[in-house]
Amino acid sequence: MILSKLPNVGTTIFTTMSKLATEVGAVNLGQGFPGFAMDMQLGKLVEHHINKGHNQYAPMPGVLELRQLLAAKIKKMYGHEYAVADEITITAGGTQAIYTAITALVHEGDEVILFAPAYDCYAPAVELNGGKCVWYNLQYPEYKVNWEQVKKLVNHRTRMIVINTPHNPTGTCLSSNDMRELEKIVSGTDIIILSDEVYEHIVFDGQQHQSVARYPKLAAQSMAVYSFGKTFHNTGWKMGYICGPAELMNEFRKVHQFNVFSCNTPVQYALADYMQDENKYLALPKFYEEKRNHFLNEIKNSRFKFSPSAGTYFQSLCYQGMFEEKDTDLAIRLTKEFKIASIPCSVFYPDQLDEKVLRFCFAKDEEVLAQAGSILRNI
Ligand code: GLN
Repeated sequence: MILSKLPNVGTTIFTTMSKLATEVGAVNLGQGFPGFAMDMQLGKLVEHHINKGHNQYAPMPGVLELRQLLAAKIKKMYGHEYAVADEITITAGGTQAIYTAITALVHEGDEVILFAPAYDCYAPAVELNGGKCVWYNLQYPEYKVNWEQVKKLVNHRTRMIVINTPHNPTGTCLSSNDMRELEKIVSGTDIIILSDEVYEHIVFDGQQHQSVARYPKLAAQSMAVYSFGKTFHNTGWKMGYICGPAELMNEFRKVHQFNVFSCNTPVQYALADYMQDENKYLALPKFYEEKRNHFLNEIKNSRFKFSPSAGTYFQSLCYQGMFEEKDTDLAIRLTKEFKIASIPCSVFYPDQLDEKVLRFCFAKDEEVLAQAGSILRNI
């Protein structure tokens, strides 16, 4: 008999819902991925670098030109200067960065504070490394953090706190006040912040993304995770990066080198060329804000309740008062009967807290959003 290391884990909800959506021919607003093409200029740049012969292993931490560009971008946007040599590492996507960071930094018996609903890759990574998840439940509709309560969860075994802003699945964002409260809690401790910022460029209504890199004291004890896939509409490329102080990054790289060793070389060169034009990412808030507004306009006369998403390409819709069934059941029924797939938010809570909220991805073309809108208005 095989002794499972993750006895309670099945296939992820994203895979499950995408599979079902394909089987029944539903509009897929479940798994988060752009439904439109990436900029082919980036594809041409990859081709260019393949033809140029950039086809062997990249340096373990990543192609120098790309790390230099990222250091400059972060300094300009958030103020913190990460050392190119030893504070930035290119990864095979955000999930690999998160897994490797947790593996490198969480020891047997350590406690890791997670905020639920939590993106599904955090807890398994903690548990596989012998850590213990300590949960703080955020609640619909505001999903606000009460930092006094969080402080009560901290003790001498707390090794790490994982934050995620803009937040998947709720579409909320941490404020500068949240960041200062967090800073107070961890200051003077050895607690490491793992900051999942993969939706950094998808923030709406003129708000600023609250990166740990805006707060020097926080940055000094944080590992911040980013994604190219979310920013450049190519989630299938599985490319991301992580930034953090040299002593933490040194531990990260010890694991990274045996985990993936190094990441796709021509893609890294292409990204370094492409990102010379900062509009490629600075245009993103407006681009996605228009999609959010379009989607909200489509569903404003539906029976679902919602507050506009503040960031990410997800919108939560609440069906309290419409149906009694569990969100996991409803998500399946809506896919099969109404031909629209979503993600039930209870799967992101340790106790499957069911607040009757479904997550919809609006990173889709207008026609798809219109089609989704007409389905949702009829539910
Ligand atoms: N990040 C994507 C989402 O939240 C899913 C990625 C995946 O399928 N693992 O929908």
